[in-house]
Amino acid sequence: MVLDPSTFCTTELTDRPQRELGEIITVRVAKVEKVAPDLLEITVTAPALREHRLIGPDEFFGLLIPSPGREYVPVPRPTSGNLRGHLAQLSDAERPELRWYTVRHLDRRVGALAFQVVTHGVTDPADPAIGPALRWALGASPGDICGISPTNGLWCRHYAAGSGSQLLIADPTAAPSVVAVLEFLQSFHPDELRSTGVILAAPSLDSFEPGIGGKWASRLGVFHMVTAPQEELLVAVLDRLRTLNPAGYVWCCGERAFAAGVRRFSVSEWGMDPRDVTFSGFWIEGQARG
Ligand SMILES: Cc1cc2nc3c(=O)[nH]c(=O)nc-3n(C[C@H](O)[C@H](O)[C@H](O)COP(=O)(O)OP(=O)(O)OC[C@H]3O[C@@H](n4cnc5c(N)ncnc54)[C@H](O)[C@@H]3O)c2cc1C
Repeated sequence: MVLDPSTFCTTELTDRPQRELGEIITVRVAKVEKVAPDLLEITVTAPALREHRLIGPDEFFGLLIPSPGREYVPVPRPTSGNLRGHLAQLSDAERPELRWYTVRHLDRRVGALAFQVVTHGVTDPADPAIGPALRWALGASPGDICGISPTNGLWCRHYAAGSGSQLLIADPTAAPSVVAVLEFLQSFHPDELRSTGVILAAPSLDSFEPGIGGKWASRLGVFHMVTAPQEELLVAVLDRLRTLNPAGYVWCCGERAFAAGVRRFSVSEWGMDPRDVTFSGFWIEGQARG
């Protein structure tokens, strides 16, 4: 699939994208699809999405969802640059829950945006161990209303100014970002796929979009899927990294300790400049991400 360049603010993207906090878009759930045993894809629609452009392929957004038993109350446009601070000023009855998700597809022709929610083996929205986002996603159905606050992207073609090689490392929560980056490269910079490596790691392959390996492994310089229990995942990935040549740029996102551990390895064992490593804790084991 070749992406439409008008979906993006720029297709060059040699610098890390930055978006000013803008309108919070009220959206309606159009479709909820189980794309893998532990992965839901939710499509939301709104007229404003016809005007929206992605700041980068891994653009993420604040998902604003009602607390259990409440209706979503549309959130006014923020007056400050901090979404959480803005929400804190709302009354308890108006304040939605906030969690972060990545745009998987944007179809501006029809004003539709899809994102993928990892369910990590949970099917019951009443499970007391899960947080508000998964609870909402497991119970979501067409017609439900929520909000999205478009934010930033993390990835850019940073490597283009250096050695030219990059390695993208992700657990299932960051796999939608990686696949979106690969589709962006395929569409606008196909020569750069060969110098791109990907490592996807998870306790089970059931949380990944089906067919990733079949589609991408032969087009990339490096492609590995690593499975191990969550508490052994970092060690398993580091073992795999030790078999590879150091990359010029590393992007690593997923569970906080996992992402931080890969960054530490890249800097201390591969001797990389910390500025050539992008990492983010997408979720925190045993703790709400907030
Ligand atoms: C920039 C960014 C982009 C993100 N994009 C995506 C995305 O596209 N898809 C996606 O699924 N997630 C994505 N995430 C991660 C998602 O925001 C977190 O998983 C978040 O914690 C989910 O909120 P929750 O309300 O379900 O759980 P929380 O209230 O945050 O946590 C409740 C409990 O659930 C556990 N938990 C949360 N997430 C997971 C998980 N994935 N596996 C196992 N246990 C978990 C926590 O450890 C905690 O014990 C992204 C995060 C960031 C920061």
